[in-house]
Amino acid sequence: MRKSVVAIVGRPNVGKSTIFNRLVEDRIAIVDDTPGVTRDRIYAEAEWLTTTFNVIDTGGIDMSDEPLIVQMRSQAEIAIEESDVVIFLLNGREGITAADEEVATLLYKSNKPVVMGINKIDNPEMSENIYEFYALGFGDPYPISGTHGLGLGDLLDTVLTYFPEMQNESLDDDSIHFSLIGRPNVGKSQLVNSLLSEERVIVSEQGGTTREAIDTPFRKDGEDFVIIDTAGMRKRGKVYEGAEKYSVMRALKAIERSDVVAILIDAETGIREQDKKIAGYAHDAGRGVVIVVNKWDTVEKNDKTMNEFEQKIRDQFQYLSYAPIVFLSAKTTKRIHTLIPAVKTVSENHAKRVPTNILNDVIMDAIAMNPTPTVKGRRLKILYATQVAVKPPTFVVFVNDPDSVHFSYRRFLENRIRDAFGFTGTPIKIYARKRD
Ligand code: GDP
Ligand code: GDP
Repeated sequence: MRKSVVAIVGRPNVGKSTIFNRLVEDRIAIVDDTPGVTRDRIYAEAEWLTTTFNVIDTGGIDMSDEPLIVQMRSQAEIAIEESDVVIFLLNGREGITAADEEVATLLYKSNKPVVMGINKIDNPEMSENIYEFYALGFGDPYPISGTHGLGLGDLLDTVLTYFPEMQNESLDDDSIHFSLIGRPNVGKSQLVNSLLSEERVIVSEQGGTTREAIDTPFRKDGEDFVIIDTAGMRKRGKVYEGAEKYSVMRALKAIERSDVVAILIDAETGIREQDKKIAGYAHDAGRGVVIVVNKWDTVEKNDKTMNEFEQKIRDQFQYLSYAPIVFLSAKTTKRIHTLIPAVKTVSENHAKRVPTNILNDVIMDAIAMNPTPTVKGRRLKILYATQVAVKPPTFVVFVNDPDSVHFSYRRFLENRIRDAFGFTGTPIKIYARKRD
């Protein structure tokens, strides 16, 4: 299910980052022991009462080379485009400034719900200061203090009332949601266009059956797919589109909504650091992954070229050893027909459930082949295993001592499970739990 997104906007120094950090406190850390990449700090998960949602700190997108007015306008646009609800942050010690009015004007034009947080109201005596903000026309102003953590509860209660009804998008829709992610210029837009104009691809007329109108549903070989748009695929030329953090944020948002992520690599320029970072997000998020080597037309080839390129990818993306690789040219459309079947296979594996009895046979055979280690004089005992979740497939192994399940043995079990059930393209998670 898609999480609602809240953006914090306001002129510089009203306390956006302070509030953002309060909202996402301690939630940045990824609760997983697989190596990967830590999330960027401008987009993070927060929780209020029983609802989790995502928060964007638009102030965290660095556009310091731009004039202030351009920065503010861009931030407001990002907020409007990306969020369900906007928290318009103001400084209760300074009253309404011309810059606040600029931001307000931009927010009027959007159809997004706006809730005003009047910050820096550090003590109750100052709460008189909030009344003048009614003049901005966004309803009740909420007095808050980012540094003292005051008033946030009332503000959030109101913010939550504006969340769209829980989207049942992924409940009654079994289409395969996938996104194309990668650095600027790897060919994402070209690939979307080529895929959608391919023969036998039927693009849904009404477009955007979800409320993200830029998603494109289509049908191919009797299967329903939705391509989720990522940074810069349709819109061009906005100041902030070039900001790296913004593109990372868009990628994270797309990844979150995808079953399968196709990570594009540019064959012409080769693998870059940024490719690895982006791939790390998909892995961390537990999504299915297909690696797409695009611009294959630009490479001089002999019969070894593909294997050599594959080897490079395997060396550079070791944590993605499960991901299939396809080589294609979005531009000439050569080999482009290999992508959709790979996405389909990965999606099936990502949602696969294996029978408990067969799983346990596989685990017992594995133990017979490679006995469990003895740690501090005590042999690790595996009692049984069960699959507890899909998307990604997640297993719990009950053992006498969870601390004795070291990385290498876990990796061994993972490989046995993969060999037995074929989880191509999907990460799998294995947790050890104590049971005597
Ligand atoms: P941003 O530019 O909007 O992200 O603002 P920051 O979060 O960086 O905050 C700007 C300044 O205001 C910092 O010096 C903060 O410590 C201060 N500040 C933020 N919230 C409060 C608050 O509730 N009360 C007071 N007194 N200062 C605050
Ligand atoms: P995006 O920023 O990832 O959306 O990249 P674009 O789709 O805008 O492509 C960037 C550039 O790469 C454009 O000039 C495309 O024409 C070019 N391009 C995209 N795919 C291919 C390909 O398969 N082969 C070649 N030679 N060029 C490509």
